Amino acid sequence: MIGAETRLVALLGHPVAHSLSPVIMNAALRRENVNGVYLALHAKTLRDLLACVRDIPIHGLSITMPYKESIVKFLDNTDSHTTKIGACNTVVRAQDGKLYGFNTDAAGVVRPLEQRLTIDKSKILVLGAGGAARAAVFGLKERAAEVYILNRTASPAQKLARSARARMVKRADLKKLNFDVIINATPVGMGSTRESPLHENEIQARYVFDMIYDPPETRLMKFAKARGAQVIPGIEMFVHQAARQFEIWTGKPAPWDDMLRVVTLALQEQEARKAGKEAARK
Ligand code: NAP
Repeated sequence: MIGAETRLVALLGHPVAHSLSPVIMNAALRRENVNGVYLALHAKTLRDLLACVRDIPIHGLSITMPYKESIVKFLDNTDSHTTKIGACNTVVRAQDGKLYGFNTDAAGVVRPLEQRLTIDKSKILVLGAGGAARAAVFGLKERAAEVYILNRTASPAQKLARSARARMVKRADLKKLNFDVIINATPVGMGSTRESPLHENEIQARYVFDMIYDPPETRLMKFAKARGAQVIPGIEMFVHQAARQFEIWTGKPAPWDDMLRVVTLALQEQEARKAGKEAARK
């Protein structure tokens, strides 16, 4: 099915081997009959990445760690999210050959929330002040949410709060505060650590949105359920930021529900493989 007309879209980062992006993007391209193929390309250095972009007629790019920030200065133009967040995760090569950069992480946060509540005036606590937190804070402020920030280190949180006109919260005050949503934008709870960024009695919220999707259910999500909150899993952010990328590259609405189904299945298979290996080791 691949021919001269086939458009190439690629994920560039280091590492990329375990990424779920090819699964989700190729499913979406097939579902929408787009003559395109999505590949993961391992760029060990930014120089490798730029050489790929220069030498291969790639139509669209997903930029992942560690290049989301360093790529920005090589782009011809960027959207307002990239400028505010200072990081780009999506590039499209326009007909004039110029490279346009976007950041779709804000859509990855806003879309799962707007399916569940009115964001305008909702009280939302964001844990963290890194790239993902910045995307959440700017995306939610743009939708008129009341945004609060809590971070391990005060200075990045202060900087973010100032530039986004959000408020800071002290951890000691959490027990006195109620939120519509708490969003975890830290890596705490990732992999097999079984840690949580909050204690169970610090959670007073209608929804808890954990950006982490490995494992699919984190300790924070378990605590949230025990406190009667509804949980939004990180895989929804992954799907919705990818859906927005698909729209940028193809100009078509993304089949996000199919994308969610495909990637949920892939994650379950990944978990089953891990459990199998663990059992074999014992
Ligand atoms: P980042 O730029 O490195 O920022 C990490 C943030 O977490 C910082 O604010 C850092 O605080 C805080 N942090 C790190 N370790 C901590 C610890 N042990 N205790 C308390 N706070 C800690 O990372 P990022 O790119 O924003 O990503 C954050 C998380 O979001 C990652 O788990 C990533 O996988 C996830 N994510 C998910 C999606 C998705 O599609 N679902 C998309 C993007 C990111 P300090 O300032 O004190 O260092």
